[in-house]
This record gives sequence, C-alpha cells and structure tokens, in this order.
Amino acid sequence: MSEPQDRAGAVLTIDLDAIAANWRRLRDRLNGAECAGVVKADAYGLGAAQVAPALHRAGCRTFFVATIDEAIRLRPLVPDARVFVLNGVYPRTEDDFLAHELLPVLNTPEQVALWRAAAARRGHPLAAAVHVDTGMARLGLSPAEAEALGGDDALWRAVRPVLLLSHLACAEDGPGEAMNREQRQRFQAARALLPPMAASLANSSGIFLGADFHFDLARPGAALFGVNPTPGKPNPMAQVVHLQGKIVQVRHVDTPMTVGYGATHRIARRGRLATVAAGYADGYLRSLSNRATGVIGGRSVPMVGRVSMDLITFDISDVPERLAHPGAVIDLIGPDNPVDRIAAEAGTIGYEILTSLGRRYHRRYRGGSA
Ligand SMILES: *Cc1c(COP(=O)(O)O)cnc(C)c1O
Repeated sequence: MSEPQDRAGAVLTIDLDAIAANWRRLRDRLNGAECAGVVKADAYGLGAAQVAPALHRAGCRTFFVATIDEAIRLRPLVPDARVFVLNGVYPRTEDDFLAHELLPVLNTPEQVALWRAAAARRGHPLAAAVHVDTGMARLGLSPAEAEALGGDDALWRAVRPVLLLSHLACAEDGPGEAMNREQRQRFQAARALLPPMAASLANSSGIFLGADFHFDLARPGAALFGVNPTPGKPNPMAQVVHLQGKIVQVRHVDTPMTVGYGATHRIARRGRLATVAAGYADGYLRSLSNRATGVIGGRSVPMVGRVSMDLITFDISDVPERLAHPGAVIDLIGPDNPVDRIAAEAGTIGYEILTSLGRRYHRRYRGGSA
C-alpha cells in the first residue's frame, strides 16, 4: 500500500525547530519584554495544533488568536498559557470565554459593556485586554471612547484590565516612517486615559522599530513563520516552509507551441516542460501565472503558462534530464525561492501565501521536540 506522501501531488515540510528558533530570536531582541505568539488562522496556515505546542516548549506563555473558536481549539494545547481573542467577545459567548479560561480583547464600548455585565452576573471582576485604535480605524476604542470609559471607576472594578494593545499600520516601513511615531504617541496618550495595565504595540515588524516600541509585550506572528519583518533588508528570520511539487509529466517540445489555458506562453525553441501536481486549488495563486520561480537541482526554472486548478508547468529545458524526470520534485517554496519571493511574484505578501497553503499537500513536521 502507498503512503500519504506517495499519493500527494506535493509535500509541505514545516520546520517547528525553525519556528522555535525564530521565537527565541525575537524574544532576545525584546530586552526582557514578553514575547507572545500570534497563531490566528491556524497559525498562519501552518497548523496551530503543531505550532502552538512547539512555541510553548520554546517558552511562549501568551497566545493570540482571532476568534473564540480558534481559542477553544488552542486551549488544551497550551493549558497554562494566556489565550487572548483579538476579535473580542460577542453576545452569548461570554460563558465560553469563562469555561475555557480565555481572555477577550475588548475593542468597542459594546464589548466592554458585555464583559462588564458578565462580571456583574458572576459577582467578581473579569480580566480582559483593552484595544485602542491609534491609526488603523479597524478595531479598538477611539480616543473619545477611551477618555469616556477611562474615568468610569466602577467599570474598572468589574473589568480587570490586564493588557492595553494597539496595532501598527506601517510597521514594516521602518523607524523612519512618521506614522509609526504618531501611533506610538497616540498609544501613550491613550494609556494616560486608562487605568494602569501592561502595554503592547509591536507586531513582528514593530519589534524591529526599536526599544521604544517594545513596551511590556510584543505580538509577533508572520516573523515566527519566516516572513521577513524588515522588507528591503536581509531577512533575520529562519525559513520555516519547504514546498516540493512532484513532476507528473515531462513534455518534450520540438515544434513551436503554446502552454496552458489561454495559450499565454509560447515555446519558440526545442525544450522540455515539467508538469507539476499543484494548482490554484492548493493555494498556488493564479496570479503566479507566467511569473513564479521553481528550483530544481539548484537551478531556477520559470513557471510558464497559467496556473490551473491542479497543475502548473515549468520550463526545464536548461535542467539535465537525470535531475528533472517524472517523480522528481521541484521546490515551489524553498531556500532559493522563499515565501517572500513567491509573494512578490504573486503580487501579494507572505502572509497570504502561507494562509493559502492547500489542504491537499502532504504535511510533514520537522523537529519540535522538547
Ligand atoms: C495579526 C496580528 C498581529 C501579528 O502581526 P504580524 O505582522 O503577523 O506579526 C499582532 N497584533 C494584531 C492585533 C494582529 O491582528
């Protein structure tokens, strides 16, 4: 009988040791501030069930997810850790937070009121994080709302604030970007309006803006998974993802012809094409058509023609036949074509490449032991 990797069109290897090393590297930059781990969207598509315990073994004790369902699944994996839910509390979910010992991020006056009412019903204070908006206009209390709530002493006897957070809009643009300084100032102003609590502003890129962005806790996600937090500069993070697609067919072309749907690529000279078993249904984005780079035997090979649902085609004319044959693999993401490069070729960001990684890939985890 076959093994799953025999049946899969592509094998996705996720290096848990690299994730742990990245977490330690970020923690070491923080000079004593706490390093949390953001594992929303199934740990950016890499598998929270494997990633969260690996981060926990590395020493991570505070986790962020987007939704309460993600938090409920995460809870048993990291029993003694704090788990914050970024999207906050919705009506009728209060008891779920308490049953699973989850902490809501309170983003709006309505969420603050829900949590306060839950505390009143329970008859004791309930802990939560508070989110203030400093420039995203997405989630978080406005300055006016923070000011109005800040003076409500009875509120802060019911809601025990454990973390004030805000989110940077332009962190990857570096310390010279004025928006970062402005958001930091607005964050400080909001802090002064609210009761004393620990503070958190930096995502992955925010950690690289300098010590005055570190506060008490940083919230990296993407950098843990190998995305460059300092675009335009060398990537300080270890690569985590290796995606190898299997060659199904090698096509010898000896007369001029076109490749794929829409006939968007023309082969003018004699050559060889390798058809690989991955496509846009696997998150190999269609915008990579005629743009992506594969790597085989240490050589870059251009992806030619359109990405189809289950197949892609590479021009392997310059690769020796002994290397590129049916059953051999082409790196779709690897050391020489890392996730940021593929993202640039697709016209997107590494975050989208990772969270799109398909369910048909055979997933293999490396490392991660205690
Ligand atoms: C997703 C998210 C993060 C992590 O951001 P990265 O850029 O992936 O490090 C941190 N904080 C909030 C509020 C987020 O939504």
